[in-house]
Amino acid sequence: MPVVRVALDLPLHRLFDYLAESATSADIGQRIRVPFGRRERIGVIVSVLEHSPLSPEQLRSAGEILRDLPPLSPDFFKLCEFASTYYQAPLGEVILQALPGGVKRIDPPARRTVRRRATSGERVVPELTAGQAAAVAAIDVAQGFSAHLLFGVTGSGKTEVYLRLIEQVLAAGRQVLLLVPEINLTPQLESRVRARFPDCEVVALHSELAEAARERHWRAAFAGEAGIVLGTRLAVFTPMPRLGLIVVDEEHDASFKQQDGMRYSARDVAVVRAHQANVPIVLGSATPSLESWANALGGRYRRVDLPERANPEACLPTIHLLDTRKMVLEEGIGAPVVAAIEERLARGEQSLVFLNRRGYAPVLACPACGWVSGCKRCAANMVLHLADRRLRCHHCGFEARIPQACPTCGNQDIHPFGRGTQRLEAWLRERFPAARVLRVDRDSVKSRKQWEIVLERIHGGDADLLVGTQMLAKGHDFPKLTLVGVLGADAALFAADWRAPERLFAQLMQVAGRAGRAELRGEVLIQTQYPDHPLYAALVAQDYPGFATTLLREREQAGFPPYSYQAILRAEAPLMADAMAFLANASALSKMAECPDIMVYDPIPMKMARLANLERAQLLVESASRPALQAFLPRWREAIERVKAPARLRWHIEVDPLEC
Ligand SMILES: [Zn+2]
Ligand SMILES: [Zn+2]
Repeated sequence: MPVVRVALDLPLHRLFDYLAESATSADIGQRIRVPFGRRERIGVIVSVLEHSPLSPEQLRSAGEILRDLPPLSPDFFKLCEFASTYYQAPLGEVILQALPGGVKRIDPPARRTVRRRATSGERVVPELTAGQAAAVAAIDVAQGFSAHLLFGVTGSGKTEVYLRLIEQVLAAGRQVLLLVPEINLTPQLESRVRARFPDCEVVALHSELAEAARERHWRAAFAGEAGIVLGTRLAVFTPMPRLGLIVVDEEHDASFKQQDGMRYSARDVAVVRAHQANVPIVLGSATPSLESWANALGGRYRRVDLPERANPEACLPTIHLLDTRKMVLEEGIGAPVVAAIEERLARGEQSLVFLNRRGYAPVLACPACGWVSGCKRCAANMVLHLADRRLRCHHCGFEARIPQACPTCGNQDIHPFGRGTQRLEAWLRERFPAARVLRVDRDSVKSRKQWEIVLERIHGGDADLLVGTQMLAKGHDFPKLTLVGVLGADAALFAADWRAPERLFAQLMQVAGRAGRAELRGEVLIQTQYPDHPLYAALVAQDYPGFATTLLREREQAGFPPYSYQAILRAEAPLMADAMAFLANASALSKMAECPDIMVYDPIPMKMARLANLERAQLLVESASRPALQAFLPRWREAIERVKAPARLRWHIEVDPLEC
């Protein structure tokens, strides 16, 4: 009797064999009901065998093979196998996480018929600038695999380049996968894509979709009916039988990295997918990741530049540094920023004060005894939220009432220390009573609907003064915004994380790019105590290539990525001693794996050493050779899996970590 080998969504690096009378090789890639323990599960058939290494008595019989969908293709398996091997994730987990909930449930919900969304609005096709035309011409979408890094300054019109390429691919009868960091923050992009291609089915795939909608969209992509799939990182695995092009917008964005479960980079998986499928890929950014920049320098990616803003009237904003050592600050704001805001208010233009810290103040403190509002569950402070009078941990979500007096010494005179967007908003309202102040952060904008309302208010000129976090930095055109004031950026200059400068530069370039996108010239004022810092010099010159060259040189000297390859083993347990002992053991096992060219560092507690009542530690492994690291990891992982860990200890390996 035929035997099917089935992938199940379990944290185990193995597949499971079942007897399946009716199975033929045509069923590879179909879903199947199988008994597992005392319950039934849905798995995916990976292969059909004549014989199993197990004897028939040891095998259980599978249930029904679900043949309502076409089988998943060899291409799909190939991509999942890559991700499983590269990221040390169980193949079953990779395959099953790529499928929407509805098709892997034992009792699938009743399906509604697809309701096509009629697109209204006229189809406006803007003329290409010379730069855009050159970029479109430089990317040949008919020539199979090639990776392009589209490096375009903010406002250079990268989207229009994508749309022209998409048009060519659709005309050739193929599908397009368009990946974006956070779909909720880019409603404009979605409506623009729909309006441009009214005859093409465009489906969105992201985690905030209701399950039924996600399944409907996924099925349309899988059936080849949807011409364009617009999605976030999880969409990278969507099976698309006629895939012809992949675009990754804002490729530097950290949200392409999955931080739990199977930890992968959707951008990197997308490049592998394009290669496997022999289709072109375009990675777009104004501030590319250093990895991608190095790939372009090394000739693996072709760089395509868009050096000018698309609107010829809109020049790049001017950026000035304000030396706060020489000024009196009121609530963290110096007189030049105040004067610049006043000017904008008088002219009826908008200003944005950027502070990437939400809440009222990062901590509540007692000056008498030194008490601070620490989180009971984490190695972090509870942030003061005056808007709803709570202390809140931004790491684990724990909340508490604001105490009337110091819990340690009873002192009633406890103070907020430092400032966040709420405090800034309160002060700006007081200082500019006639101005309409709008705060934009994840506390004030929680849903897509709220975000659309906020965008409308800004566009409609219904706000004079914006206070916001990086939420406001991403990809929006605010035609009346001509001033951006940046506060509190210095903290990231000297952060322990060596990737912090790269992120800071990208963030400040993005936020600066909000200013002056129409005919009104923008001005950016950055308050700093370190006006001579090279990062700020590069920012003032708006010189990403220069900045990248400097950082890459530093990384090369220090042997950091992209000049080395890293993986991290993390352990979390109720007791730090358990986590550290486990890692010490794993470190010893690494020596037995006898792999040359692998550097194993000592276990250390993580920077956030306690999160939600668990103590956390990690161990870094590094190699100058990616193949060496890839050869080492599975052997090491298997050795660790054989170790008996304390009951409540959890561990995982993360490859190419972004934070270490
Ligand atoms: Zn006290
Ligand atoms: Zn916490």
